[in-house]
Amino acid sequence: MLGSMMHKQLTISSLIEHAARYHAKTEVVSVETAGGMSRTNWGNIERNSRKLASALGKMGVEQGDRCATIAWNNTRHLEVYFAVAAGGMICHTINPRLHPEQLIYIINHAEDQVLFLDKTFLPAIPKLREHLKTVKAIILMGPRDAESAAMVDGLLFYDELLEDGDDDFAWPEIEETAPASLCYTSGTTGNPKGVLFSHRSSVLHAISGNQPDGMALSARDTVLPVVPMFHISAWSVPYIAAAVGSKLVLPGPGLDGESLVKLIESEEVSIALGVPTIWMGLLAETEKTGAKIPSLKRTVVGGSAVPPSMIAAFRDKFGVDLVHAWGMTETSPLGTLNQLLQKHQSLSVEEQAEIRLGQGRPPWGVELRILDAGGAVLPHDGETQGDLQIRGHWIIDTYFKAEASALTADGWFDTGDVGTIDQDGYLIIRDRSKDIIKSGGEWISTVELEGIAMGHEGVAMAAAIAAVHEKWAERPLLIVVKAEGADPSAEELLAFYDGKVASWQVPDMVIFVDELPLGATGKVQKNKLREAYGNTLIEKG
Ligand code: ADP
Repeated sequence: MLGSMMHKQLTISSLIEHAARYHAKTEVVSVETAGGMSRTNWGNIERNSRKLASALGKMGVEQGDRCATIAWNNTRHLEVYFAVAAGGMICHTINPRLHPEQLIYIINHAEDQVLFLDKTFLPAIPKLREHLKTVKAIILMGPRDAESAAMVDGLLFYDELLEDGDDDFAWPEIEETAPASLCYTSGTTGNPKGVLFSHRSSVLHAISGNQPDGMALSARDTVLPVVPMFHISAWSVPYIAAAVGSKLVLPGPGLDGESLVKLIESEEVSIALGVPTIWMGLLAETEKTGAKIPSLKRTVVGGSAVPPSMIAAFRDKFGVDLVHAWGMTETSPLGTLNQLLQKHQSLSVEEQAEIRLGQGRPPWGVELRILDAGGAVLPHDGETQGDLQIRGHWIIDTYFKAEASALTADGWFDTGDVGTIDQDGYLIIRDRSKDIIKSGGEWISTVELEGIAMGHEGVAMAAAIAAVHEKWAERPLLIVVKAEGADPSAEELLAFYDGKVASWQVPDMVIFVDELPLGATGKVQKNKLREAYGNTLIEKG
């Protein structure tokens, strides 16, 4: 016997159709690549996406074909998202800051047929083009311009293509298990690996991740995804915003503190999302100018550990609630989000703040567990740490084109992170297993060392790495960028650890640098720091 209710497929088209039907006049505002702002709404976004999907069909692009984007967060990128996925093709978002060899590898591996580009990225194309074996059309995301046309033979222009599209094109029927989008992990070791999201996984992820104890975006919000649309679909914000009809503000290329503060103030942004390094820029700017950003109510921050001082700064200076989240490309990305439980409401502000520091709890649809090195499942007691594994509706099963499943024999995905989980399911990420410092038989969390250092007013950014040590195998080294106008000494910073960690966990040495190497998604590249400074302690003797 079956249930006797309607059976509808969970598709990306259902999200954008809802936005057009019930939130047509809600604004989508975008900073344009060429400068200036554009203003449109969900009704127009849906109509343009359908036109674009029909134009791609006329060009011979078929269902299941990969269409790639190398673009900032802007209106046309949003239209491509929906046109391609709701149209039955696969939207492959590419990180523009990859090395040319990695770009070539990814595009060929994905067998991209079409490449959508923002003008910023056009100059790289003439050199790459002969290596791109499958790309049949390159489309500049803008109106025709002679300078661009002269740069790349046969270049097509987005705005002209739209004019070729049919206004009455209807979204095709798609099975919810069909692929909708593709994103490659950054591949710090080995080749990047593709994660192929389905319509079903994307819709379930968006709906579950947006519950009141998750991102909680609503039709009353103005949402600023600073997290790039090439970084795991901007954590699903385009899909969630369409599903609930939020006003969307797309920041284009200007992700510095000054541009973000201006945008938040002028558009009265209520929720903003991004990695910690982005918010350091914003906080430094408010420090400098005294900007108040009164409209901002909440930030969702993840991608790397949030320093405790950042949560306090948002809360105490601006009354902004920082929701700490954890996830990865393979998990769509939402694995956990940090909100309190009913029983926490009677706790003091300090006790509540302590709980909010961690990475939070899984929403409906995913489960977590931790294991020891021998594969035994460990208790959720908040103290025992182990290798973090995850399973659920929006977790990877197999990398794109890989033969073997990416899962353990009993169906879990090993995240490569090390953490603790408490009885209520609150996760604390101690480290990535490749970053954690193994000093003697003990492990030292770089996340914890960095969080403490960033709480010192003389520190703008800090990274802790394992340095090779003759006696202890590895010892912690702290690499620091000083805050503007500050000049803390190494001794002062090391003394700052007193009473905060056990004395054997205090770094052996502080190295001051002008800046830390940041990867394409704004995370500190610890492998580069280890290459540069990993032998400092033995060289020193
Ligand atoms: P990359 O490995 O290139 O950074 P992802 O964007 O998929 O690619 O990053 C996932 C990893 O980022 C996680 O496995 C984890 O190590 C780290 N991470 C993400 N969110 C957090 C967080 N809130 N706290 C600590 N680490 C995090």
